[in-house]
Amino acid sequence: MTDGPILLTPGPLTTAIETRRAMLRDWGSRDPAFIALTAELRDRLLRVAKGEGTHAAVPLQGSGTFIVEAAIATLVAPGDKLLVLVNGAYGERMVTIARRLGRAVEALRWAEDRSVEPARVAAALRADPAITHVALVHCETTTGILNPLEAVAAAVAEAGRALLLDAMSSFGALPLDLSATPVTAVLASSNKCLEGVPGLGFALVEPAALERARGASPSLSLDLHAQWRGFEADGQWRFTPPVQVVAALVEALRLLEAEGGPEARHARYRDNFDTLLAGMQRLGFALFLDERVQAPIIATFHLPPARGLAFRALYDALAARGFLIYPGKLTQAETFRIGCIGALDRRDFARLLEAVEGSLRVLEAA
Ligand SMILES: *Cc1c(COP(=O)(O)O)cnc(C)c1O
Repeated sequence: MTDGPILLTPGPLTTAIETRRAMLRDWGSRDPAFIALTAELRDRLLRVAKGEGTHAAVPLQGSGTFIVEAAIATLVAPGDKLLVLVNGAYGERMVTIARRLGRAVEALRWAEDRSVEPARVAAALRADPAITHVALVHCETTTGILNPLEAVAAAVAEAGRALLLDAMSSFGALPLDLSATPVTAVLASSNKCLEGVPGLGFALVEPAALERARGASPSLSLDLHAQWRGFEADGQWRFTPPVQVVAALVEALRLLEAEGGPEARHARYRDNFDTLLAGMQRLGFALFLDERVQAPIIATFHLPPARGLAFRALYDALAARGFLIYPGKLTQAETFRIGCIGALDRRDFARLLEAVEGSLRVLEAA
């Protein structure tokens, strides 16, 4: 439960009181207690994805975009070429980042309601031997669509290329097993399925890829190789760490373990999503995606023009009842989004549905 509004957003999202309470103290960033906390953070992040034997955890200050930018800057060296698989805004953003960094980049695109097709990826890799890296968004938060990680990873590994995975809105909930699935680097942040507070991104990277990347990043602060060497040298952050964010994330990771790990969290989000979808359909809202490609992370609903409902009016009515929803991010259709993640369960969604029903009664009578 929360004392503020309930956030039905993809992050920042509703956090547990224990997670927020973990921020109520000061930490010296070079004190042994905080060095131990950083070590626990790095270990726990690897364990979430079963990457203890194969990957190194490199946390970085900033929002999720900072870690994506740092990973592309560091791992895609001058002379390499990146292929980005795009079916939404976050894939598009990786193309923009690579261009801004002056890296060779190409995009393979799908419509926003279509999953990435592994066979097209395999064909593109056969056709262009210059491509060294492929970037995939696991769950495209633009719509909530799930992309087929295992099949894409197999196609990329088969072709002998490196895979960068933006797992921002899936890490900690959707299945990810780095001991079985070949992924060079996984990128995620503190404030989505891990249910921490915002301010931190992290990469889980194969050490060989980091070794190869020495000096590649044109940025001093967004350099994952230097950041990694810093942690390995003395367990400390190169530059001022967001100490309270780290403390909150470690607490959130302990809570994830206590809940039963990503599998249990996935089941809770699935239950949230199912409750939400059934209720919204009853109230006359249609899901934007085909259910077969929908991840239980965030749901996009049509805002039917015939009902004369404006997003802003619906948002304000729900906010007055204590629930914050999210605007759509689509180019073609009038939509809005409701997140299923955060420290929430089906009872919160049952209350939300009552609030939607109450809001509609007022708005549609007006
Ligand atoms: C949230 C998110 C990001 C990063 O967004 P920030 O606003 O920078 O935290 C990147 N990719 C995906 C898929 C996301 O959901």
